[in-house]
Amino acid sequence: MTEGPRSVTILGATGSIGASTLDLIEREPERFRVRALTAARSVDKLADAARRTRAERAVILDPALYAELKDALSGSGVEAAAGEGAIVEAAAMGADWTMAAIVGTAGLKPVMAALEQGETVALANKEALVSAGALMTRTATEHGATLLPVDSEHNAVFQCFPHGSAERVRKVILTASGGPFRSLTREQMAGMTPAQAVKHPNWSMGAKISVDSATLMNKGLELIEAFHLFPVGADRLDVLVHPQSVVHSMVEYVDGSVLAQLGTPDMRTPIAHTLAWPDRMETPCPRLDLAAIGRLDFQAPDFDRFPALGLAMDAMREGGAAPAILNAANEIAVAAFLAGRIGFLDIALIVAKVRDSYIAIRPGSIEDVLAIDAEARVRACAFVESLAR
Ligand code: NDP
Ligand code: MG
Repeated sequence: MTEGPRSVTILGATGSIGASTLDLIEREPERFRVRALTAARSVDKLADAARRTRAERAVILDPALYAELKDALSGSGVEAAAGEGAIVEAAAMGADWTMAAIVGTAGLKPVMAALEQGETVALANKEALVSAGALMTRTATEHGATLLPVDSEHNAVFQCFPHGSAERVRKVILTASGGPFRSLTREQMAGMTPAQAVKHPNWSMGAKISVDSATLMNKGLELIEAFHLFPVGADRLDVLVHPQSVVHSMVEYVDGSVLAQLGTPDMRTPIAHTLAWPDRMETPCPRLDLAAIGRLDFQAPDFDRFPALGLAMDAMREGGAAPAILNAANEIAVAAFLAGRIGFLDIALIVAKVRDSYIAIRPGSIEDVLAIDAEARVRACAFVESLAR
């Protein structure tokens, strides 16, 4: 770690994870120095955050918004840039610590550019790891980068995992809240609206991951994420539904011991863990009061009511191009559901249809992954059209 303030870049600074990250670093301005902040279209939010944190550079995805961003930053000393390439360049500027919090495989190129700098990358952008897992972890190793998991489950496992002796682990158990439709029948789910799907009982998150939590695809993507982060193999990864989201995940050892990480459901805790790692830092998160909570419940996941979980498990076992196809089809289906074009149950249906219609060879490069992703999107869009109402 470098002396003096740590330089920090936030990819996806205007989202839910981006806001939580900014909240933490703005509480300790002497400890962190912001290099770049990026966003897709939220110009005002981006300019505001860049001014507050005296960032070196602010980058907006949409080139049509460049003038607006430049205007909003005039006199601030913050450099403005726009376009997909400019986001990758911002990631490649090199910061001691980079938060990867873009949603979807749109974050893949920037996260790879950040890893190539050989510093620390805190990963929230699970879709990038799901699509390009082996390539990403290999790039991290080759460039000596440290990849720290932000996703609450993986951060929990990371804290409980015996690094260097994975053979002592019998199981990695990811907990799942079960989402807002945990107790609904398939018939009831069929009528659920986007507004109902994004209303998560425990966590406040961006729209895409909230829908993924309602279908349990989020847990499926997280299994694939865990597969790449923790070397235990698919057969030793498990899911357990735990509606209170207090136990964030567990590691079972060969001797029967089970270590768990607990906390209130606030993403600032895992983000702070990666910001301070291997140290710890203060956060304003509400403290866990187990006496007030009283009880913790657990149940096995229901694969019949939540087929997305099984689809993701199949893709994890199959490997190769399958996770990238699953993820791309899901991104399209979720966007179509959020736009009111298809029903809730159509999401997993479209993912299954794309899987059955498209076989691709194992990707050997990021370009291969992006080509597989693009083709899966085209196919998913065609299925959306056939189902759209
Ligand atoms: P949000 O939708 O709230 O934020 C997404 C961020 O990415 C925004 O800054 C957005 O900019 C930017 N963005 C969107 N599309 C693009 C694009 N095509 N190119 C570049 N930037 C883009 O998402 P979340 O913060 O909820 O999630 C971010 C990632 O973290 C996801 O992968 C999610 O799965 C993961 N995650 C999130 C958790 C949470 O609690 N929210 C928990 C665990 C993981 P703009 O505002 O301009 O649209
Ligand atoms: Mg999670």
